[in-house]
Amino acid sequence: MAEKNHRLCVSCRQTAHRDRLWRVVRTYPHRQIQLDTGMGRSAYLCQQASCLQAAKKKDKLSRALRTKVPPEVYQQLASRLDTHCLDKLDYKV
Ligand SMILES: [Zn+2]
Repeated sequence: MAEKNHRLCVSCRQTAHRDRLWRVVRTYPHRQIQLDTGMGRSAYLCQQASCLQAAKKKDKLSRALRTKVPPEVYQQLASRLDTHCLDKLDYKV
């Protein structure tokens, strides 16, 4: 069983403390996708380019949330990464 306050990254399947993960929420009952807060089904992602990149490639957030996650959500997350990190990985949304 996962440790307290640890969540599974939808991309790499590693667990980390929820403070170190991004939370993507499919709100209830409107089924809007939003970040960080809200009530509903949620998916977690490591705050790093590699996990974001892999998640976007296979659209893992959509699968985890069982609804279409718009590209803007991935873009929003990418914008939270620092640019140095993006350059290093040649990450493009
Ligand atoms: Zn991860």
